[in-house]
Amino acid sequence: MKLTEILEKKAITKRYNAFGQHMKALYGQLVYKVNVDAGFTCPNRDGTVALGGCIYCNNDSFRPEACTSAESVRHQIERGIPYLRSRYGAEKFIVYFQPYTNTYKSVDVLERLYREALDNPGVVGLAIGTRPDCVDEKKIALLERLAKEYFILVEYGLQSIYDKTLEYINRGHTYACFQHALDMTAERGIRIGAHIILGFSTETREEMLVMADELSRLPIEYLKIHQLQVVKNTALADLFITRPFPTFGYCEWIEMLADFLERLSPHIVLQRVFASAPDDILIAPIWNKTRYQLLSDLDAYMEQRNGFQGKKR
Ligand code: SF4
Repeated sequence: MKLTEILEKKAITKRYNAFGQHMKALYGQLVYKVNVDAGFTCPNRDGTVALGGCIYCNNDSFRPEACTSAESVRHQIERGIPYLRSRYGAEKFIVYFQPYTNTYKSVDVLERLYREALDNPGVVGLAIGTRPDCVDEKKIALLERLAKEYFILVEYGLQSIYDKTLEYINRGHTYACFQHALDMTAERGIRIGAHIILGFSTETREEMLVMADELSRLPIEYLKIHQLQVVKNTALADLFITRPFPTFGYCEWIEMLADFLERLSPHIVLQRVFASAPDDILIAPIWNKTRYQLLSDLDAYMEQRNGFQGKKR
């Protein structure tokens, strides 16, 4: 059996609301993401909000090598789709505007870039990663128009609900700013996602778990959770080298995820449950586990303790 078939089969038995399963239910088949780099920058790096960016941020840790802003969005998609077709037999795709802040341009430029991506017949929608302080009424109105025809998911980087953490990581916005962005985006046909990171030394384990309770009360449909990773060429790496702090061990992370998922609303779809920075830039934690191993171990652990998403709500 091919790995994709095994994963697909496993997805049926997942004890949490996984993105792959969710998209399959929506479109009748698996939907694959094509990552593009549309040449955006970030206001937390260029001085508009701050300089230096979030202390953990090294965009190389989440940008696939094949994805480069030197090529047009159209070409990146035309290059990405044949690979996904031949490897997975994929037929439907979501274009993921991933690196930096993908609403950080004028509405006209955004509309051109988004429509360029949607122009490909295999593309059913967009996932747009951005900051909550980089949307406004006009940009949301654009997404609302596109959402009448396509799957439009805006993914807000939040990282923490605690202002003490947002300050520590130099996020450049508050939790209230995130709530304001949600208020603007909710009930307009736009799908809303959030990203959080667990493991900052500013938070206790219980405070991290409280995030599951809090996010469950918000109009969020999709969530990416990952363990804090210390990667090279970041301010966090400098702090870590000067004064090392604890990061999640592999088993601790599996246990943390299970606890978190049990407190999370069963309606929220999990897009990601861990991060995997490239080996050559990752400093800590080093687990040496594949995606498949981690997801299998999470499934096995949840099954063993009879856990499931929303169990403790
Ligand atoms: S993590 Fe996102 S918001 Fe923070 S500096 Fe990097 S690109 Fe900007």
